[in-house]
Amino acid sequence: MSVFQIDFGDTPDTPPRVVGIDLGTTNSLVAFLDLTGPQVIPGSNGSPIVPSVVHFPPTGDPVVGAEAQEALLIDPVNTVYSAKRLMGRGAADVAGELALLPFKMAEGSESVIRLSVGGRQLTPPEISAYVLRQLKQNAEAFLNETITQAVITVPAYFNDAQRQATKDAGRIAGLEVLRLVSEPTAAALAYGLDKRRNGTIAVYDFGGGTFDISILKLEEGLFEVLATNGDTHLGGDDIDDLLLRIALEDVATEWGRDLSADHEAVQRLRRAVINAKHELSTLPAATISLDYQGLEYRRSLPREVFEKLITPTIDRTLVPCRACMADAAVTPEQIDEVVLVGGSTRIPLVRQAVRALFKSEPHTELNPDEVVALGAAIQAGILSGEVEDQLLLDVTPLSLGLETMGGVVTKLILRNSTIPASATEQFTTAVDGQRNVLIHVLQGEREMVRDCRSLARFDLKDIDPVMAGMARIEVRFLIDANGILNVSAKDLRTGKEQSVEIKPSYGLTDEQVEAMILESFDKAEADFNERQVREARVEADRILAAVDKAKQSDAWFDLPVEEQASVDRAINELHLSYHGDDHVLIQSKMEALDLASRGLAENMMNSAVRNVLKGTKIE
Ligand code: ADP
Ligand code: MG
Repeated sequence: MSVFQIDFGDTPDTPPRVVGIDLGTTNSLVAFLDLTGPQVIPGSNGSPIVPSVVHFPPTGDPVVGAEAQEALLIDPVNTVYSAKRLMGRGAADVAGELALLPFKMAEGSESVIRLSVGGRQLTPPEISAYVLRQLKQNAEAFLNETITQAVITVPAYFNDAQRQATKDAGRIAGLEVLRLVSEPTAAALAYGLDKRRNGTIAVYDFGGGTFDISILKLEEGLFEVLATNGDTHLGGDDIDDLLLRIALEDVATEWGRDLSADHEAVQRLRRAVINAKHELSTLPAATISLDYQGLEYRRSLPREVFEKLITPTIDRTLVPCRACMADAAVTPEQIDEVVLVGGSTRIPLVRQAVRALFKSEPHTELNPDEVVALGAAIQAGILSGEVEDQLLLDVTPLSLGLETMGGVVTKLILRNSTIPASATEQFTTAVDGQRNVLIHVLQGEREMVRDCRSLARFDLKDIDPVMAGMARIEVRFLIDANGILNVSAKDLRTGKEQSVEIKPSYGLTDEQVEAMILESFDKAEADFNERQVREARVEADRILAAVDKAKQSDAWFDLPVEEQASVDRAINELHLSYHGDDHVLIQSKMEALDLASRGLAENMMNSAVRNVLKGTKIE
């Protein structure tokens, strides 16, 4: 197990500065580490928070942040927000989300999404790059030096494609992304929880667009991530959508006008409900107000009503929390500290729900909007400070494996394995003289190939064409610190090697990951049985083929007739059991055949020995 310790000892001379960036769905921030600790960097308006919004005017340069947010009111079709929801995902995956967003997808974008904004076509990483460029500029102006390297945070649940897209965004913005760190991991760093020495910590991150829960173990000042869970489609946005829907209906009743197709009105009303939501975090009531085309709307929203409305949304965060505790095998009583991260954790009812679930008072000392950026800055400082062993451990959200005979999946890296991770296993061929082997990489918890998600497939070609079972193919899975998977296969007889880096073009939503895990629990018993049946059949095929081959040889004809008859009977019985779903029966019929064909095997062996003695080469 690799471990991690922070050392704030001496700062080395002046290595190039690395900044830490929280590239959020709603808001982004940049921070840096100096001798006094991590600090967020303010922009020209004095606030460190840069809304992750980019406006592409028909002419002139794109505008980023608070200014772009203004453009949501006047030019919503050319103003992109929540681009993080689209990062590394395919069009089919996000069709539902795009339907809710005012901007349009370009014609013909399928596997790679392109948005049509301001007369151009841009991918989500290109859009996020504008936000990153703004943060880079803010840092350069504040620190008065050129910044070319960064650490960027991603939700713990981001898959390969989403992580890759985030790295791409950095590259496009002129930043070398030294490392991607998961957001809850960064939060743990910001709170300096290593000083506590020992304990179990839950990080609850409820932001604008994503929800993450992580459980960390701290042992002698060293962290390990025990488990993560979450929902990449759950956040303050959902509360805003809910309030907006209600307000739209309310306005329609009052004004007798349906505004839902009027982008400007909808954005204004959205702004109004968000303001009210923020006020309700500190006040007992707030007013939703809209002045539009000479009309006036005012509705007072008491906190009590607000809390009733959002209870189902908040309850949705508790499901992954419980799953995460189950994965980490800890009870709420065993969790010593809870850290709150993300703007939505300012809502008192959220704090109350977290307190009730974990049965302890959560940490709120740091500004929840800044926690992740501060942690990213600490990680960045460590990287530029040449500390050797540095990263908090992340975990894989789903198991990774290979297709093997019988359509079953052999898992190499299990779900919730800490990364970086690697696994090496040897495989062999099923057919004599086989020249190619298919390497089919799968992700998921189920036992059968058809129930898992195919990530990649490639052929290892021109392997040594030896007898079935003689080939030695070594397959290695390597997940790097950024969660990107590299699969290589090598024929150990010839040294021939082939590999793929996996950047699937379609991401998995959190719901899909959750569903895959739940399904695997449900189907565990049936799957296990099916797997055993399939494996028994593969074994039966092998035995039947071997006996069949032996029957073509002299050894068979040297066998007494009664023995031939009992071998044939055993073959028949094995055939009969083969298509049933009783693996115990198949197993016993294989044993029976094995027993019946002892004499045949002996004869084969003897003739093999004779052949060797005659100098005949056998394999
Ligand atoms: P993300 O990490 O997803 O970019 P943040 O952590 O910046 O998000 O949180 C943004 C969310 O927090 C938004 O939905 C915003 O409305 C919400 N938020 C910010 N301040 C408050 C507040 N005072 N009360 C309630 N929600 C808040
Ligand atoms: Mg966040």
